[in-house]
Amino acid sequence: TNFHELGLTKQIVATLSQLGYETPTPIQAQAIPELLKGRDMIGLAQTGTGKTAAFGLPIIEMLLKEAKRPDNRTTRTLVLAPTRELVNQIAVNLKNFIRKTPLKVNTVVGGASINKQQLQLERGTDILVATPGRLLDLISRRAISLGQVTHLVLDEADQMLDLGFIHDLRKISKMVPAKRQTLLFSATMPKAIADLASDYLTDPIKVEV
Ligand code: AMP
Repeated sequence: TNFHELGLTKQIVATLSQLGYETPTPIQAQAIPELLKGRDMIGLAQTGTGKTAAFGLPIIEMLLKEAKRPDNRTTRTLVLAPTRELVNQIAVNLKNFIRKTPLKVNTVVGGASINKQQLQLERGTDILVATPGRLLDLISRRAISLGQVTHLVLDEADQMLDLGFIHDLRKISKMVPAKRQTLLFSATMPKAIADLASDYLTDPIKVEV
């Protein structure tokens, strides 16, 4: 299979080909068609499997089709990840994918200037990639609203559990509209993560690579 057969449009497939992505990885082949249908998903996968494109590409396609809100500052996709390094790595990938689209990707992470991040957010965002603690700080400053989020991704959920973010994850999941698509990726499935998945995902497909 190629990316076009998975349901991605020509524009995105052309960008992928420029990036040297010709053949989908197994997680991409399994996930992309299902995610394009709007389904929730649990992905048992490590970094290095191509999971960023597996969730990023279908979400980008869906965002391009959804009517943009009149308030273009609004976050429509929220990606949560455990560390600054991972957030930045995800954002670099997503920024490559959206090169030829009007979409914007922003990051918020701890250990960097919160004022700078706030200013950056005021210029608009479609996809926000964040660590949970800094996200909550910016929400309490009213710099971010999650009221228009249609896609929520929890990446490396077991790692977020280990770093003590489980309470923050639950708090954030409750702030996002109930009518949304939710994806959870984890290398392992400890009980706390399985519970989180059953509380916040609806009839998810399970993909294991
Ligand atoms: P990830 O697991 O998302 O961190 O991706 C691992 C690496 O593989 C990243 O550097 C991606 O740019 C690259 N990659 C992901 N999918 C593909 C693909 N289908 N073809 C070529 N490279 C890919």
